[in-house]
Amino acid sequence: MATTLPARYAVFGHPIGHSLSPTIHRLFGGQCGIKLQYSAIDVPPESFADAVHRFLAEAHGANVSLPHKAAAFALADERSIAASRTGSANVLTRRPDGRLAAHNTDGAGLVRDLTTRQHCMLAGRRVLLLGAGGAARGIAWDLLDAGVAELTIANRTADTASALAAALGVSRARARRWNELAGLGSFDLIVHATSAGVLGQALQLPHSLVDPQTIGYDLSYGPGARGFLDWARAAGVAAACDGLGMLVEQAADAFALWHGQRPQADPVYAQLRAP
Ligand code: NDP
Repeated sequence: MATTLPARYAVFGHPIGHSLSPTIHRLFGGQCGIKLQYSAIDVPPESFADAVHRFLAEAHGANVSLPHKAAAFALADERSIAASRTGSANVLTRRPDGRLAAHNTDGAGLVRDLTTRQHCMLAGRRVLLLGAGGAARGIAWDLLDAGVAELTIANRTADTASALAAALGVSRARARRWNELAGLGSFDLIVHATSAGVLGQALQLPHSLVDPQTIGYDLSYGPGARGFLDWARAAGVAAACDGLGMLVEQAADAFALWHGQRPQADPVYAQLRAP
């Protein structure tokens, strides 16, 4: 008697052993009554394209993590608007005709976590984005779409921040040098999108960026977020949170895209947050 094997999915990264994505997708699958296999695949950049093509020849979809998001975008046959405007993809889906479709759910995941879970309204707010790498690019358009009044981008390498502000192409988005941070006043929301924390490097940030209403948000989670969150609390933020909620929300969007059913993110977030 023929048996139907569960559909296969995976997250590709390097390193990827720490990834919570297999757990999140298995929990979503359990909620929705969908059987799936979801693994974590560690490949270095030079092997990524071959490995992902081999995997998706038989599997339905893949998530893509550091450092492969730009490569995932480049190898796709078709690209969503969210992927095209950021030049990177965290979701690859195999179409029935074998073509690979690229999408990016990072920005939507951040905005949903901020607005629904952290109760941080974005319209009309002054936002500081620290960093201009892949993750910052992935969220900048969504912050503007959410109606922020001002998106100030500061990056260690000033040219990268300028290039991102220019690509965003609106006067609400502007680049500032890292050494100008002390003169910028305070912000309603500070989004930390550098990899300094996960690399174990300390950031020097002035407390003048914070006032009693400021919310501090680190895209990283776990030990990688500790340095920024400690700084934010010491500076006197109203609230400080890490990127675990964004991780769960971007995964929920990928799950909905692949399975046509939106899982409930809150119970999975609560389970991952539990000590
Ligand atoms: P990239 O490697 O693309 O970019 C790294 C960024 O960090 C650059 O702007 C770089 O600046 C900056 N940076 C690195 N070290 C320092 C330092 N010591 N001081 C100041 N700036 C520094 O990484 P990503 O943008 O893809 O990822 C950034 C973070 O976001 C990671 O920690 C990642 O885990 C997290 N993330 C979380 C997600 C979630 O779902 N919660 C989703 C995606 C990412 P420069 O240009 O000068 O090198």
